[in-house]
Amino acid sequence: MFVDSHAHLTVPSVVDHVEEILQRAQQIHVQAIVNICIDPASLEKGLHLVQRHPWVFNAAATTPHDVEKEGELFFPRVEEKARQGQLIAIGETGLDYHYLHSPVEKQKEYLIKYLSLARETKRPVIFHCRDAFKDLFELTDHYYAGKPAVLHCFTGTLEEAQRCLERGWFISMSGIISFKKSALLREVAAYVPLDRLFIETDTPYLAPESKRGKRNEPSYIDETAKVLAQVKGVSLEEVAEATASNAAQFFSFPKHILSV
Ligand SMILES: [Zn+2]
Repeated sequence: MFVDSHAHLTVPSVVDHVEEILQRAQQIHVQAIVNICIDPASLEKGLHLVQRHPWVFNAAATTPHDVEKEGELFFPRVEEKARQGQLIAIGETGLDYHYLHSPVEKQKEYLIKYLSLARETKRPVIFHCRDAFKDLFELTDHYYAGKPAVLHCFTGTLEEAQRCLERGWFISMSGIISFKKSALLREVAAYVPLDRLFIETDTPYLAPESKRGKRNEPSYIDETAKVLAQVKGVSLEEVAEATASNAAQFFSFPKHILSV
């Protein structure tokens, strides 16, 4: 069994094919998927999707890329749905200084807003962080100390991984660990204890090595799990079960989700 801890199932390139995509996911025993909603349209569709598929769960926030354009519009909607208990997590939120699609100050402003929403609604946070760990640690130590979080699609260094672990956070590995050039990231994956790891596809992005260039989907999650099993020297089943039960606890999935 697998849990895909991060997929965008209701963005335009995916949502029209979502029923087939979910069927293929079930064929390889994906038991739960966290659908990351990034704007009003994807959240609206996400809320409908989970009614048809109670093994899919929604999280929502404007990404750090889009906070300047769309942050203000979307925040009240996320706030409302979080307060109604319709989101299992807040995110992806965070900081991205690699692309700087939104100015640093805006990114920080929205990160802080989402952190306080997460505290208020007692939901965990999904972080997106690229080239911005120093500021992420500084802000979270101030506004979100000791609270649950996962660093999604981790691409940082070993030291950055250590500093996430020190804070009690989880680390989620995507198909990037299967890329040929990702030797350093595989070292990080080998280092992080299995009880602190999730796996994710980040559908439709970042298809694993054997599917590169294709639209990613949750049924490709096993490739990431296989690489993780290899670097850790454990069985695929062990990786699948550990990462699934880590995610199930973190997101408080209903008990029946992982029972076979
Ligand atoms: Zn994402």
